[in-house]
Amino acid sequence: MISELEAGTYVLERCAVGDVVEASIADAVGHVLAAPVVAAEDVPPFANSAVDGYAVKAADVAATPTRLRVVAEVAAGWSTEREVGAGEAIRIMTGAPMPAGADAVVMVEDTERDGDEVVINASVRAGSSVRAVGEDVPTGTQVFPSGTVVRPAVAGVLASLNARRVRVFRTPRVAVLSTGDELVNDGSPLQPGQIRESNKTMLLPLVAEAGCDAIDLGVVRDDEAALESVLRDAAAEYDAIVTSGGVSMGEYDVVKAVLSRIADMRWMQIAIKPAKPFAFGLLAAGDRRTPVFGLPGNPVSSFVSFELFARPALRKMSGHSQLERTHVEAIADEGLRRRPDGKTHYMRVAGRFADDGRYHVVSVGAQGSHQLAATSMADAIAIVPDGDGIPPGDPVTTMLLSIA
Ligand code: AMP
Ligand code: MG
Repeated sequence: MISELEAGTYVLERCAVGDVVEASIADAVGHVLAAPVVAAEDVPPFANSAVDGYAVKAADVAATPTRLRVVAEVAAGWSTEREVGAGEAIRIMTGAPMPAGADAVVMVEDTERDGDEVVINASVRAGSSVRAVGEDVPTGTQVFPSGTVVRPAVAGVLASLNARRVRVFRTPRVAVLSTGDELVNDGSPLQPGQIRESNKTMLLPLVAEAGCDAIDLGVVRDDEAALESVLRDAAAEYDAIVTSGGVSMGEYDVVKAVLSRIADMRWMQIAIKPAKPFAFGLLAAGDRRTPVFGLPGNPVSSFVSFELFARPALRKMSGHSQLERTHVEAIADEGLRRRPDGKTHYMRVAGRFADDGRYHVVSVGAQGSHQLAATSMADAIAIVPDGDGIPPGDPVTTMLLSIA
């Protein structure tokens, strides 16, 4: 058996970051910038008012109350040639350009209008309620380094700078298939020995959530010729392949039989539970060498090995530098019992941040590798080292599956 670290390192070393493409802002959302973005424009592009009020000379309102003559009006999208002279004010709205001669804005709440005059009831300092040119982003500065994830607010900033096309790492296209003669995928009544397919239905959205395009290659029978042809086509067409089932020691583990023959695979036994058997390798197609993740068939094992080995690798291929899920030290409210067996146990737990600021976890219940229903309720995976488990109230490292 090898360690989880050895397996993970082996996989990551063989998965390369993808190509760089140019994308519109909308298409770039969720992707990783492959080049820094330097501001070609100031944001804001001109000094403007932060409030609705009156543009004044601060020196004119040093003593209040005082009266000023209102000589013009300016709203967002307008501009005015009229300067603010001594004893004058210009009515101004939020976002409107500051008129020449004015150096501050008095908010409307601190004024009373009286015909073509305004009574100013509060003094302001020069610069008050004025947004300076370039105060958000000055021209020429690097706003985002390469490696930045284009989140929605990043997209907004790119638009504000007129950076309409950006360079991002291309989305990996990842093919997902299940294998097994027992699997029924079309809703038809189960015949003796058959079960419903569930793994690819789970893996497709996991691949998508990892930031990739997920392609459904369906269920492939335990037939070597059929599987070989699907795998070869997929290796030529897609950036990675995720298979489930057929990687252990069974007589009909055709994934193992076929991939051993046609790909450069490593068949691993990893010192973890669940998900001990796992395979990874490269399948050549022309001049490409396409990564293949051979996940075990048991649904919980499939889930855990995807999380531990496939997800970080797919994130690397998408250009992410944060490959791992967030890990936090949690409190095991009920204790997480296990027996020594030379393996690290990845126990699925329900968790919540409590009033003490700590993350508290309890087992989701059934921990069998076929019991996906309990696992489906997990918020995190507790990493329980070899031994007798975690006593109630003790800390345990957990990997958060979602932070919400
Ligand atoms: P295997 O790794 O192919 O030996 O499968 C191990 C166990 O997982 C068997 O009980 C299979 O029936 C089950 N299994 C394999 N693939 C799937 C799948 N796609 N959906 C649900 N169960 C599966
Ligand atoms: Mg099978």
